[in-house]
Amino acid sequence: MTNDIARSANPSTIPATSREIRLASRPEGPPTAETYELVEAEVPALRPGQVLVRNTLMSVDPYMRGRMNEGPSYIAPFAVGEPLEGSAAGQVVASADADIPVGAEVVHFAGWRELSVLDRGAATVIDTSSAPASAYLGPLGTTGLTAYLALTRFAPVEAGETVFVSAAAGAVGSVAGQIARLLGAGRVVGSAGGAEKARRLVDDFGFDAAIDHRAGDLPGQLAAAAPGGIDVYLDSVGGDHLEAAIGAMRDHGRIALVGAISGYNSDDQVPGPRNLYEAVKKRITLRGMIVSDHFDAFPEYLEHAVPWLASGQLRTAETVVEGLERAPEALLGVLDGTNVGKMLVRIS
Ligand code: NDP
Repeated sequence: MTNDIARSANPSTIPATSREIRLASRPEGPPTAETYELVEAEVPALRPGQVLVRNTLMSVDPYMRGRMNEGPSYIAPFAVGEPLEGSAAGQVVASADADIPVGAEVVHFAGWRELSVLDRGAATVIDTSSAPASAYLGPLGTTGLTAYLALTRFAPVEAGETVFVSAAAGAVGSVAGQIARLLGAGRVVGSAGGAEKARRLVDDFGFDAAIDHRAGDLPGQLAAAAPGGIDVYLDSVGGDHLEAAIGAMRDHGRIALVGAISGYNSDDQVPGPRNLYEAVKKRITLRGMIVSDHFDAFPEYLEHAVPWLASGQLRTAETVVEGLERAPEALLGVLDGTNVGKMLVRIS
């Protein structure tokens, strides 16, 4: 199939070119304007089995900073000169795939561009009658699945236990606090940066107590918020948070190591917890997890999450930055904490 045939599906809506953001150079420290290049690229002809998607929303995620670095990791680094990648949602505007018609709403992994050409299998059709497309990039996507897996498989929550969540006003954290409650936690404590975010943890997301990590004395604040200690910790931050959590942990506690954002923009390794021997004495389990190893758990998660979301038991927030050209700013923002809930970029 040629582009002419594909475009005949909806010719008025398909431009010949599409703006995309490429990695221009690998940053040292926080990404800067030199890190990115905004390019007007030709839209290639569709081959059989491919679809063309006009992206409406894309996700910016902390792990993207790690992919800008060279070197081995759990996912390949972004290539210099190539478009960046990441989760995005959009509408099919031309299709050479019998299974995905023009007009279908889809999510996929070729974000950072206005139009994405996707091979068969790279686009997942979503049902936007039950939840908006943005939900599939957040609570019904890998964000929600990460929170669920952390608290059911990696640091399982038992009824009545005390759970501590870091980066709790963010995408994973805000969902995790509520899932902990839905799993039967007795007390849920969250940490976030600033008094306003701490207030929202309690008022909007139902945490029992909130810590403002920018106010200092993390161990003291955690002891006050969880006087009996904590049983489960979802670690998105590493460094000082992990150390405070180990210090506050009760015997046989569990820690899901999900991220270590305190070091993502740093060229130096952030010092590890100085009290790791406490984990020995307390028989604590620390387990790292990467959500993409567990996509087989999506159906199980969605069985819970779709009704939780529909019934309002799971409340979510989004911070939306307008315009593809502002995606770099949005990524910096998620690393610095300008977001509450899921950080998204509206592309069209
Ligand atoms: P968030 O929406 O939580 O945004 C990141 C948040 O981190 C910011 O809003 C900021 O909130 C907080 N933060 C930044 N620097 C610090 C710091 N030095 N100390 C404490 N908090 C800080 O992002 P996501 O929900 O997408 O991701 C959260 C974490 O989960 C990240 O570490 C990410 O890498 C990880 N993750 C891991 C996955 C996996 O498979 N292992 C999958 C998905 C996410 P504040 O203003 O409150 O400080």
